[in-house]
Amino acid sequence: MTTTLPAYDEVVARYEPVIGLETHVELGTNTKMWCGCPTDFGGEPNTRVCPVCLGLPGSLPVANKAAIEATVRIGLALNCSIAQWCRFARKNYFYPDMPKNFQISQYDEPLCFDGYLDVEVNGELVRIGIERVHLEEDTGKTLHVGGATGRIHGATESLVDYNRAGIPLVEIVTKPIPGTGALAPEVARAYVTELRDVIRSLGVSDVRMEEGSLRCDVNTSLNLPGEEWGTRTETKNVNSLRSVERAVRSEMLRQAAVLGAGGRITQETRHFHEDTGDTTPGRSKETATDYRYFPEPDLVPLAPDPAWVAELKAALPELPRLHRRRLQEAWGLSDADMQSVLNAGAVELIEATVAAGATPAAARKWWLGELSRRANETGVELADIGATPAQVAELQGLVDAGKLNDKLARTVLEGVVTGEGSPTEIMTARGLEVVSDTGALTAAVDEAIAANPAIADKVRSGKVAAAGALVGAVMKTTRGQADAQTVRTLILERLGAQG
Ligand SMILES: [Zn+2]
Repeated sequence: MTTTLPAYDEVVARYEPVIGLETHVELGTNTKMWCGCPTDFGGEPNTRVCPVCLGLPGSLPVANKAAIEATVRIGLALNCSIAQWCRFARKNYFYPDMPKNFQISQYDEPLCFDGYLDVEVNGELVRIGIERVHLEEDTGKTLHVGGATGRIHGATESLVDYNRAGIPLVEIVTKPIPGTGALAPEVARAYVTELRDVIRSLGVSDVRMEEGSLRCDVNTSLNLPGEEWGTRTETKNVNSLRSVERAVRSEMLRQAAVLGAGGRITQETRHFHEDTGDTTPGRSKETATDYRYFPEPDLVPLAPDPAWVAELKAALPELPRLHRRRLQEAWGLSDADMQSVLNAGAVELIEATVAAGATPAAARKWWLGELSRRANETGVELADIGATPAQVAELQGLVDAGKLNDKLARTVLEGVVTGEGSPTEIMTARGLEVVSDTGALTAAVDEAIAANPAIADKVRSGKVAAAGALVGAVMKTTRGQADAQTVRTLILERLGAQG
């Protein structure tokens, strides 16, 4: 079906969007939720499994304390209340990558509930309500092979890998978010970004969307002003921050086209496609699935000790938003400058470079300049560029000590990025150090004066600006390895002129 989509401006002038986000975060615990199997990403299929996570008859789960602690800390960082008593529940359904035929989750008794997260959008603070934060287990992975799309349609066989089955998974559900108008897509993205940063600051997950340790479903609906909220759709497979924004926008446009043509929105899950930026229908939710939830009989209830919860709360790190604000003040940056640091993904890198001894201005110059340019050219994340904050600080230290000038420092940095060694090692090995031996420099200066008598006379007669040509000549004979300012001073001394 090809429909002409309305313009975004027209959509937001006519309808009010309501969005909601459900985020799943794989916790970075050493072992799985109910057994002692390791959790690290990327092992050979079906090598990190045992009777418990394979759902073999007679095996019994034991809850992972580290996962419960991590979930409580996430709840506290999101300003939630923590349940004093709650239970796990069985969610019954069949799926090949879930060997028990039920998932242990939480239903009407989540561990954390009723919180909020403040996010900044265009300099404005938007408070996002948090409905619940609960703990459950991840499923395995099904791989459909033989087809063109990797989906089950057209596949000749399907393979199941249970390494991921039973990895602790935290689900974070927002309350419905009305009132964002045209900014709905940006708010959705800002929320997921901030949530990712909060969870990363807690050190409980590596929150990598590309590896699936942070996954996001986006609910979207439209209604006319003053009317009830519309029927919502749930978009799955949203695998990057940019896609979160695109998925909301694309769904708003599609729904407006359907409503504008007199149609109605079907309550369904939809799949987001990275390549086209469109969504296509998945499972219809017109008839709500009955999962026959009941309290998990193989596990004892959870009753977090309020004193323990208070201790965890007192030990929470500074929230990323407040931390960023403090850094911005300490670094003396304008909002726009801070935004470009954020966009480059350089906050933590600059922070670590400053901690290693560089000034904020120098740290920012290297990370936003030379290194960002290289990252863009090679399509690599700035953090994976190959230079560490400690190396950048060391490089700047060599510049400050007069051993490298700016041009030489860039050459050394190239070497650092390509793995030649530390800045000092590269400078020494390649003989890039600024010539600071005054004897050698004086010889080069005398040579330049002797070779350019007319210019030398001009400088002697007081035309100091003419000294530039002599500085250039000395820089040439020293292959750029002299400090231009020192050379200039020497020339003026030799010719008896005043700088
Ligand atoms: Zn296991």
